[in-house]
Amino acid sequence: MTQTIVIAEMNNNAVHPSTAELVTAAMAIGDAPTVIVPCTDASVANGAANMGAGTVIAAKSGAFTHYDAGGWAEALDAVAPPGTVITGASPQSKDLAARIAARRNLAVIQDAVAIDGNSITSPVYSGKAMQTVSISGPAVVSVRSNVFAASSGGATEASVIDTDGNVATSVAEFMARASERLDVGEANIVISGGRGMGSPDNFVHLESIADTLGAAVGASRAAVDTWEAIPHAMQVGQTGKTVNPSLYIAVGISGAIQHLAGMRSSKYIVAINKDADAPIFQHADYGIVATWEEALPVLHTALKSMLD
Ligand SMILES: Cc1cc2nc3c(=O)[nH]c(=O)nc-3n(C[C@H](O)[C@H](O)[C@H](O)COP(=O)(O)OP(=O)(O)OC[C@H]3O[C@@H](n4cnc5c(N)ncnc54)[C@H](O)[C@@H]3O)c2cc1C
Repeated sequence: MTQTIVIAEMNNNAVHPSTAELVTAAMAIGDAPTVIVPCTDASVANGAANMGAGTVIAAKSGAFTHYDAGGWAEALDAVAPPGTVITGASPQSKDLAARIAARRNLAVIQDAVAIDGNSITSPVYSGKAMQTVSISGPAVVSVRSNVFAASSGGATEASVIDTDGNVATSVAEFMARASERLDVGEANIVISGGRGMGSPDNFVHLESIADTLGAAVGASRAAVDTWEAIPHAMQVGQTGKTVNPSLYIAVGISGAIQHLAGMRSSKYIVAINKDADAPIFQHADYGIVATWEEALPVLHTALKSMLD
């Protein structure tokens, strides 16, 4: 069987639960993988225990204090055995995947959404088409979240390897997070608003539904560009974040191709738009032709009574 290596998805110096999905993806290609946890404190690698890995390695290095593509790739390359490397598909992880592939002279396949042995499927042309490629040897594959089920069991503790990376970037200042709310890229439910919301103040209606559902709040680029109060971190689409939630609710969003590129692979899409001809309805599983002013209060009341 093919040797597989998972680079743990990290969030605030902790192993992100989506790492267990990467383990499942790795096992669709080969053996139970070696999970490598980039860390400065080896104890965080215990977060990858019971995620189905064959082995967990804490790759400990000062290089992992802040992200630097070259430094991280070098430090991980020194620790990872030969084989197919699996990463997450966040912007940072896709960057890292490409760097590791370049170092190892391997092909890289980004944003995988299905794996069947050596056949790997990923979206192309902003999600308008899917391509399936066959790999005949080791490769580097980034895998979208919320596609594979989380794995469990396997290695219960990590071994520690000290490694080094030649970090080229020094961090002068950290900007505060744009919002303490759940990130759209991580959420299983996303409710997004577009220019049709009329004002950034009206996003409060999306936030209260998000609180009821445990959802993240996203936005179209028109909303982000028009209103300073809507940060770029919320933008979904070609030049924003790619999301893959179970449920995506688009409110006052027309459904431009660049927006669809970031959310069309959502499992269920609900659209609320006052224009029955809005393109978003062609991609929605459920459509509500109404203003958000009419639809959101009704939706919120119904959701609250369902969830109470
Ligand atoms: C290179 C490039 C990259 C881009 N990247 C992105 C990207 O990453 N993400 C992205 O989103 N866009 C992106 N865009 C922009 C994209 O083309 C659209 O302009 C944008 O998505 C439109 O946003 P919108 O749907 O919010 O606004 P609009 O197109 O203005 O649509 C507003 C919608 O709200 C509806 N509406 C109005 N009032 C109400 C109401 N009261 N209740 C309900 N509905 C109402 C209207 O019927 C309309 O359909 C990109 C464009 C380019 C050229």
